[in-house]
Amino acid sequence: VEKEPTNINKLADEYLRLAYHGLRAKDKDFNATLETDYDDSIGMISVIPQDLGRVILNLITNAFYAAPLPPEGGFKDPNYIHNPTIWLSTKRTKESILISVRDNGPGIPKEVLDKIFQPFFTTKPTGQGTGLGLSMSYDIVTKGHGGELKVETEEGEGTTFTIELPNK
Ligand code: ADP
Ligand code: MG
Repeated sequence: VEKEPTNINKLADEYLRLAYHGLRAKDKDFNATLETDYDDSIGMISVIPQDLGRVILNLITNAFYAAPLPPEGGFKDPNYIHNPTIWLSTKRTKESILISVRDNGPGIPKEVLDKIFQPFFTTKPTGQGTGLGLSMSYDIVTKGHGGELKVETEEGEGTTFTIELPNK
């Protein structure tokens, strides 16, 4: 697969919508607030678009599911308020192109944080998560693009994953 000059903002926005509509297609009562902030100065960056898109999709899907899911009754349960907010932003600095996905979920406890990039590690109920999303994402960003995948999290506040690509 070849790298190609890619509009990162367009790519990110496309995969945000893909993730959102995918989840709504599964359950029409699924809802979320989307906030975006794209840096127009980014221009075209050389990436493997389908690979980077998959990383963005993984991070966004994790972010949606970080909000507590209803125990029973699904999203229709009148007592249940499922309103995750996802912030997706891009930014160009002198050294890097940054793509951030932030959520208002529960955060990641310390003992879990050490393992999230390991293949097959998941805290989701059996059958609901493969535990491969973040390990695959890590490889795509680091080995595939010479970048870094960073996480900042605070319990009770939320989590931010940032893809850092070299700005060249
Ligand atoms: P999966 O989504 O199949 O569980 P991932 O590799 O995508 O596998 O994620 C591994 C684990 O990392 C998740 O099961 C969850 O415990 C944790 N995690 C990932 N993203 C978030 C997030 N935004 N908020 C809280 N926990 C997260
Ligand atoms: Mg996942």
